[in-house]
Amino acid sequence: MTATTTLKDQLRRLVEIQAIDVHIYAMKLTLRERPAEIEALRQECEAKKSTLKKLEDKLKGIQVQQKDLDNDLKTKEAGIAKMEASLALLKTNKEYQARLIEIESLNADKSQIEEKILMGFDEVEAARQAVEAERAVVAQYDKDFQAKKKQGEDEMAIMQDQLKVKESQRGRLTPDVRPDILGRYDRIVQNKEGVAIVAIKDQACGGCYMHVTEQKLNTLKICDQMVYCDQCARILYLADEL
Ligand SMILES: [Zn+2]
Repeated sequence: MTATTTLKDQLRRLVEIQAIDVHIYAMKLTLRERPAEIEALRQECEAKKSTLKKLEDKLKGIQVQQKDLDNDLKTKEAGIAKMEASLALLKTNKEYQARLIEIESLNADKSQIEEKILMGFDEVEAARQAVEAERAVVAQYDKDFQAKKKQGEDEMAIMQDQLKVKESQRGRLTPDVRPDILGRYDRIVQNKEGVAIVAIKDQACGGCYMHVTEQKLNTLKICDQMVYCDQCARILYLADEL
């Protein structure tokens, strides 16, 4: 503790500390919230990637289906060719007619498969376009995410340095304040968004604008004890008196 021992000196120091703490509070808040913001962006990106994966799986499914249909078609064609070749070997007209009916039936099946394959082409094309479009979306999201992540991390690194500077400035002032006063001040800083000591403005608390009684104003003028706002509990002072 240095020679600054009067309450007025203590308050003066607190006001100086407060000027630094406003920055410290804001920086700490940003440093706490920024990683969550980056994480939210990452999750958005992952969600887009998962949509892309589903579309890719759908495309693969249709392609597999097409391949199966192609195989069915080949089997059917081979069967038809075999039956057609067998026609010449048949002995009776009855057998011949029966075989022709079988071939006709196989040809009908073949037509159906060909129809499905044709429809499948459109499905493949639509699914392929959906995949392409989503790939572009994912690429853009990923690019944005990487850029914002880098920007956020760079800002945080700079802020960490600035925070160290501010904390060291603060550290030079705090030994001048009585531990009980500083302790109470610190608690208010935590509970009141970084602002613990406020000047009276127009006979009102500078923090919550609650009217301050004449009695409190007199106590503030005398300055022999700490005065707190009845509503927000912040430490009060008169700027003219310090
Ligand atoms: Zn107040």
